[in-house]
Amino acid sequence: MSTESWGERYAGSLMNTFGPPRTTLVRGEGTHVWDADGKEYVDLLGGIAVTALGHGHPALVGAVTEQMQTLGHVSNFFATEPQVTLAEKLLALVGADPSTGGGKVFFANSGTEAVEAGFKLTRRTGRTHVVVAEGGFHGRTMGALALTSKAAYREPFEPLPGHVTFVPYGDADALAAAVTDETAAVLLEPIQGEAGVVVPPEGYLAAARATCDAHGALLWMDEIQSGTGRTGIWFEHQRAGVRPDVVTVAKGLAGGFPIGACIALGDAADLLQPGNHGTTFGGNPVACAAALAVIGTIESEGLLEHVTVLGQKIRDGLAADPRVTEVRGEGLLIGLDLAEERSAHVLATAMEAGFIVNNPTPSRIRLAPPLVLTEADAEAFLAAWPGILDAAWERT
Ligand SMILES: *Cc1c(COP(=O)(O)O)cnc(C)c1O
Repeated sequence: MSTESWGERYAGSLMNTFGPPRTTLVRGEGTHVWDADGKEYVDLLGGIAVTALGHGHPALVGAVTEQMQTLGHVSNFFATEPQVTLAEKLLALVGADPSTGGGKVFFANSGTEAVEAGFKLTRRTGRTHVVVAEGGFHGRTMGALALTSKAAYREPFEPLPGHVTFVPYGDADALAAAVTDETAAVLLEPIQGEAGVVVPPEGYLAAARATCDAHGALLWMDEIQSGTGRTGIWFEHQRAGVRPDVVTVAKGLAGGFPIGACIALGDAADLLQPGNHGTTFGGNPVACAAALAVIGTIESEGLLEHVTVLGQKIRDGLAADPRVTEVRGEGLLIGLDLAEERSAHVLATAMEAGFIVNNPTPSRIRLAPPLVLTEADAEAFLAAWPGILDAAWERT
């Protein structure tokens, strides 16, 4: 069946929350995907920073298959090996220090659910005020939406949970002015993903830590997009050397299998007590086995180093064109500004040329490809890039 007739069936059967799909994808292999018309694309968006190992990676397929054959689901009345092993692994990667109370993990099934767990955890401090950044994105459920600044997302659903203050991202003084002794938490992305890959000035996260310490507030890093190796280190906040109290992860953690996690460190680890929160699927052994396979493959294939080197090469290549005014990001979380508001055209001409990219704003392009992106795919994209821009600039 053609992409066109799938599009019609989609429009007739799925709620129109996302607008019309760009095409219908039927198959993936490594970093390449194919649509229903047989057209091949290099996937430079990776399901929005999700398919860390690309499509069909044997380590991921093997782990999921084996776990499904061994034990597919239990309730949270029981422990499972993958769940416990993954929690321990995440705590080790985030640097939980047993001498300062270690840490604990709550597993969920998505980013927004990880954020809900974090939000409920902050309420258990006895305080309700949360300070978040303008341009930040934390999810679409009512709690996470209350912490997300974009008016178009929020306004149709007000009233949302209150006592949230928005401050300009990257402005340490504005943050310090907003936090009081009644503030439960400061929630920040260490790099803002949905805003178009916005990197804060050096020292911002350390200043946020100091502000939180001065008022007894929790520092909560939303690493749902930036974490799990995407930026060339396990968690982007580690670049700044800050120690958060709460870290939320999801997206790439299980390479495409639904998962989310709220990691709390030190005293914050014991804020949620029996009866305070729950989930049917969270901690599912198959999802946890998938995440362990992703983390193990990042380690065994040396992907952190690969991502660092390849990301720099891509940023340098993209910046060489004068129609690109700024390139930002770390590793394979890459954003760029176009000289004109032509990102929708660039997306379309990139797809015609066989590359999937994303346009978070009218003038910004974002790339978040699989961490296993090959040198050859990156070179092919950089070679095609000036032509993609030529075609986009010719459109009206
Ligand atoms: C995508 C994202 C979320 C929401 O995750 P979902 O899985 O879509 O619910 C939250 N925070 C950040 C930083 C994200 O990038």
